[in-house]
Amino acid sequence: MRIDLHTHSDASDGTCSPADVVRAAATEGVAVLALTDHDTFAGLAEAAAQAPRSGVRLVRGVEISCTHGGISLHLLGYQPDETDTELLEELGRCRDLRVPRAQQMVARLVSDGLPIGWEQVEELAAGGTVGRPHIADALVRAGAVADREEAFGRYLRPDGPYYVRHYAVDAVTAVRLVRRCGGVPVFAHPGAHTRGPTVDDAAIEELAAAGLFGLEVDHPDHDEATRAHLRDVAGVLGLQVTGSSDFHGAGRPQRIGCETTSPDVLEALLAEAVPQPGRRS
Ligand code: AMP
Ligand code: ZN
Ligand code: FE
Ligand code: FE
Repeated sequence: MRIDLHTHSDASDGTCSPADVVRAAATEGVAVLALTDHDTFAGLAEAAAQAPRSGVRLVRGVEISCTHGGISLHLLGYQPDETDTELLEELGRCRDLRVPRAQQMVARLVSDGLPIGWEQVEELAAGGTVGRPHIADALVRAGAVADREEAFGRYLRPDGPYYVRHYAVDAVTAVRLVRRCGGVPVFAHPGAHTRGPTVDDAAIEELAAAGLFGLEVDHPDHDEATRAHLRDVAGVLGLQVTGSSDFHGAGRPQRIGCETTSPDVLEALLAEAVPQPGRRS
């Protein structure tokens, strides 16, 4: 049984609709799928409607934009109470403040002569959580780069001149918030250092003390040495280890189900999620 607990739809920066993410999972033999769009639950209803038709079990999730000591990181929250006011407020703040941030990045690119505009980026985001991948898509459409990968390498990297930070939730606060909402927090791609700076082991220890469930060790952006190190850290701190594709449709090369989580870890994760009244999945 293949289990993939980290995927994106066009409710954020993936290129497939939520229903198509579920269909892609079924095609690839993924039996348990988590949809974890950036800072939003907007794709979950559609995915939940499609899941039984495709014979896929849906785990409801979100990938929360966080910060720790000035370093940006991503926290996966599984099965939280999606009606919790504080959680919704934080996600809404992240989404809202991504807009002026993306506008600033576009303005910087435009002032350097790149033939893109905010209207295109907004259109490409199509109401989903706007992010750098949509700016990348605008650069592709303008013919400035071949694909998202090249756009990130040339224009969108955090150490480049066009990068602008955006509001993100303090990571320790986010771990506590997900737990308070009955959800299960997992640190997404903690060692993805090709994307930008990553936090040190002391930060992981702090998150563990705050209630972190696990580390996403098996991720396409982690090399073997990183995985081995993170497995050791998880062992020492008593954290579980997950693996997932971080599928973004055509936006990134990895296929759904290319990395997986073990059934034992899934069982432990679901056992820690506090069921929400009135919800069936
Ligand atoms: P943002 O949250 O707006 O800063 O954008 C982060 C998103 O960009 C992540 O979800 C990644 O999927 C995507 N991303 C980061 N680095 C790359 C890259 N080198 N190529 C393609 N997508 C990337
Ligand atoms: Zn993404
Ligand atoms: Fe991420
Ligand atoms: Fe992701």
